[in-house]
Amino acid sequence: MATLHLPDALRAEMLVYARESYPDEACGFLIGTGGDGAWTLAAVRAARNLHPSREDRFAIDPNEYAKAEAYCAKHKKKQLRILGFWHSHPQSPPTPSSIDLEWARGLFESFQERYLYLIVSLQDSQEALACWRLDASGARFEPVAFG
Ligand SMILES: [Zn+2]
Repeated sequence: MATLHLPDALRAEMLVYARESYPDEACGFLIGTGGDGAWTLAAVRAARNLHPSREDRFAIDPNEYAKAEAYCAKHKKKQLRILGFWHSHPQSPPTPSSIDLEWARGLFESFQERYLYLIVSLQDSQEALACWRLDASGARFEPVAFG
């Protein structure tokens, strides 16, 4: 099974952002190394959620893409790249919504990239994280384990 190594400190960082953004969705970038079924998360970046319905949608501030790319370029020796995206579900489980699937499919069609999509759930004050990736056909999500 595809596995993302998620250091505790980065897990904690996303939870802090998610709690601070509550009741709105938090969102941002997953930065790290690896590929082909085994990744290591090296940094998470929070981005401004510009969506007008932030309680159950998110739209990453377009300016943040360039900043995330610049961060990777600055740490070129570590071979960092944008592995994918994370966002929070303030009121629902860490499973992708139909909107999440639509967005991922759109990125797959545009860039032929199967990004990682990590979701932080705060539902019922229970914190739960899950990571997803489109299958090879790009049609549906399959789970990525934490290692
Ligand atoms: Zn979502």
